[in-house]
Amino acid sequence: MKRNATPEQIQHMIERVEHLGLKAHPIHGTERTVIAAIGEKRDEFRQSLESGPGVDEVVPILAPYKVASREVKEESTVVRAGSLAVGNSHVGMIAGPCAVENEKQMLATARAVKAAGATALRGGAFKPRTSPYSFQGLKEDGLKILATARAETGLAVVTEAIGAEDVPLVARYADVLQIGARNMQNYRLLEAVGHEGKPVLLKRGPSATLDELLLAAEYILNAGNPNVMLCERGIRTFETHTRNTLPLAAVPWLHQRTHLPVVVDPSHGTGHTSLVTPMAAASIAAGADGLIVEVHPDPESALSDGYQSLDFDQFEQLMTLCRRVAEAVDRTIEPGAL
Ligand code: PEP
Ligand code: MN
Repeated sequence: MKRNATPEQIQHMIERVEHLGLKAHPIHGTERTVIAAIGEKRDEFRQSLESGPGVDEVVPILAPYKVASREVKEESTVVRAGSLAVGNSHVGMIAGPCAVENEKQMLATARAVKAAGATALRGGAFKPRTSPYSFQGLKEDGLKILATARAETGLAVVTEAIGAEDVPLVARYADVLQIGARNMQNYRLLEAVGHEGKPVLLKRGPSATLDELLLAAEYILNAGNPNVMLCERGIRTFETHTRNTLPLAAVPWLHQRTHLPVVVDPSHGTGHTSLVTPMAAASIAAGADGLIVEVHPDPESALSDGYQSLDFDQFEQLMTLCRRVAEAVDRTIEPGAL
């Protein structure tokens, strides 16, 4: 739409698009509104839409993903959830254990990561584990502990939903719903978090291409939820020296193609405590809009992923280094609204 298009003209064109049997997705930027018209047939409507009131131009979007594309929305999206702001010049720092184990562990971690400057708290209550015999998470009891930690520290809570049926329960406690790597192509789950409406952290599948990641994000956007953060957490390659291979070129590549913020997970991305801080710094240097990092009071005794978790001192060192790198690339690590 033109920069000076009126709300009535925008509404009129939304109705015209829907009348043509297409789905209308208004995207309100600071400069102007774009109406994404989604559907199979499109070229035949182009001319008739172009002459509509307040319409600037009708542009076919070439990328297979539409609402996620920078062609549709030039300005970078900032996703906000309480204390967390991710995108544009805001770098979000999500830290906490792989899994919620008990209240003492979670509260100690929440206090420590907040003191070090984290802007959100992570912790899995529903754990997708490779083996059915591994710790599966505390489920609702874990969610309650996360809510207690938020009440005490003010940190927004990021936690995973592993099945579409769990989404309402997890959303009652969480500020951000995490979709795990193994679930990136669980389309019913993507639609469920799309309809739920809370911000989503969508992790890249270990063998998914970036186009597939963007199409998975498109499911959530298309269900009406604009607040999606993409997360690079490493992929499976022939290489065995790290748990996964962390491809940091994904960060600038995604920034070129999508307005959605990009978060990096250097914990799962490397699988080794000693590699987490260097790769965290490298991620920010590459333009990451946030990090998600595993931190545990006593990594050796962690019920999951201890070998890639930082202790409190190591996390403080990570923060000190990342703040310096962020400043060098004109970003700030700062909380959103507390
Ligand atoms: C996690 O964040 O603890 C997790 C299970 O990550 P991923 O889905 O990336 O394996
Ligand atoms: Mn983990």
